Amino acid sequence: MPFIPTTASPGKAGRLFFACAIGSVCTVVICDALHRTHEPSIDKDDAPVVALRPGTPPAKPAPPPAPPAPVRTTESATVDETFSQAAQSLGIDQGTIATLTEAFGNKVDLRRDLRKGDTLSVIYDRAPGSDAPIDAPLAVRLTTGSSSHDVFLYRDPEGEARYYSKNGNSTKPAFSRYPVDFTRVSSDFSLRRLDPVTHRWQSHDGVDLAAPIGTPVHATAQGKVTFVGRQTGYGKVVMLENPPPYSTVYAHLSRFAKGLRNGATVQRGQVIGYVGETGWATGPHLHYEVHVDDVAMDPLTVSLPGDDRLRGEERQRFAKEAESLSAALNG
Ligand SMILES: [Zn+2]
Repeated sequence: MPFIPTTASPGKAGRLFFACAIGSVCTVVICDALHRTHEPSIDKDDAPVVALRPGTPPAKPAPPPAPPAPVRTTESATVDETFSQAAQSLGIDQGTIATLTEAFGNKVDLRRDLRKGDTLSVIYDRAPGSDAPIDAPLAVRLTTGSSSHDVFLYRDPEGEARYYSKNGNSTKPAFSRYPVDFTRVSSDFSLRRLDPVTHRWQSHDGVDLAAPIGTPVHATAQGKVTFVGRQTGYGKVVMLENPPPYSTVYAHLSRFAKGLRNGATVQRGQVIGYVGETGWATGPHLHYEVHVDDVAMDPLTVSLPGDDRLRGEERQRFAKEAESLSAALNG
């Protein structure tokens, strides 16, 4: 509705008058700086009157101009030799290559599974007119054969670059502390103890977790089965090669998970067998070992890579950005 301001008569100084071009009565509402509304009063000559408060704050200075938006580019390289060589050809620095090797190494065996013609694609942001990227690649896609794997950059509060999957899950291997829902620790890890079966002093390279026969045993981290079968002492045992430098052993099982074979890949939490008392066991329990660089460590206290997935609002924000980066990778 168009308003035409009119000049106030001397007796009405300090008031502001509006006359409506269409009707003889209008409603005018003015908000002050604190967004309080002033209901208009109607003057006797039917023009709305709005009282203005003195001391209207001065207009804020204009904010400095926003820096120019970065230029986002997608670049690809063919894997001719190694993952590292392809990454280098895309200008990725050594530290980030190590981080990415770990991130993708969780999904792909970078030494054995890559074939000539596989591709590596990255998304960079650059300042306009500059060749140097502002940051490490925001998104990286490794395409091997018909499958592709994407990871996305996240800077943690300390500024360290981490790469996550699209939904904000960590690409680092994660370990669970316990492979079984146990009732008690029936024997601790120790460097030297009297073995109850052999009656000889020897080290106990793992921990004994007492649980009823048939209780499912889970892989504590993803890994490759390096042994499934029987061994003296261990009885029915599964050995896993987990993400370096870890490997794990699950012994005295009553039986193995169906279809578990040497060389098979298992995921964290996957059932690999069931508690038993095969081998040198005096009662039903799981004998569990964790090796770090082939040295047995106490499974209850050894430092294990945790699950550092993003959470809450941070995760939502990340997933939204990753979604748009993923679309950009798709071209
Ligand atoms: Zn044991």
